[in-house]
Amino acid sequence: MTVRILLEDVEHEYAGTEESSRVHALSGVNLEIGAGDFAILMGPSGSGKSTLLNLIGAVDRPTSGRVVVGDRELTGMSEVALTSYRRTSVGFIFQFFNLIPSLTVRENVGFPLALAGMGSRELRQKSDGILDQIGLASRGDHYPNQLSGGEMQRTAIGRAIIHHPSVILADEPTGNLDSRTGESVLELLKSIHVSTGATIIMATHSERAASFGDYVLSVVDGRVGETGRT
Ligand code: ADP
Ligand code: MG
Repeated sequence: MTVRILLEDVEHEYAGTEESSRVHALSGVNLEIGAGDFAILMGPSGSGKSTLLNLIGAVDRPTSGRVVVGDRELTGMSEVALTSYRRTSVGFIFQFFNLIPSLTVRENVGFPLALAGMGSRELRQKSDGILDQIGLASRGDHYPNQLSGGEMQRTAIGRAIIHHPSVILADEPTGNLDSRTGESVLELLKSIHVSTGATIIMATHSERAASFGDYVLSVVDGRVGETGRT
């Protein structure tokens, strides 16, 4: 399933301990990302890219405005419904991988399905299918600290796609990788985009990484600017 993402008049403010420490992270964001697009967010550090991804992934709620993903209006949903949305419809990929060190590669990849209560036999089968897809079939029993950075990010990508999310959010996924390893991670994301049709939004600093997407949305001082084709 492919979904369109719509943001209307979105504002986001982080509350500080006092009035003066409040941060206005997003201002007047109006944005449409078409179903099945591979959109890139580019902008300086602190411009609001991660905040934007967190609102679309329902990790956080906007201070005001609407966020609509497919037929769901996130801003009107209960916490329970948002948890279910995050677990079933969203795959998150982070700069520092966020793998669970005490779980094997296979268990990390299978984690979203284990959370959903899938039985061990089916879980093993699905996880092994993903290990094949991410090129880590021989590393299923290893632990994250036995992997290279690129392998850790492949594992994190496996975990992000195993539940067939309609939205994949990648927050500077190559920011901690050398350029050659980054390239292979981007190739993997691109092939996932082609094979699943998921809507992908990726924040990046790298022009090269941006070229893997369909178009670039520039984020500056909490505002999202015009679109350029990559
Ligand atoms: P980017 O991902 O583009 O670097 P962020 O979305 O992380 O930008 O941050 C946007 C602004 O919000 C920055 O000024 C940042 O310092 C601030 N910010 C981010 N997260 C928090 C938070 N949890 N509490 C307070 N301020 C935050
Ligand atoms: Mg960020």
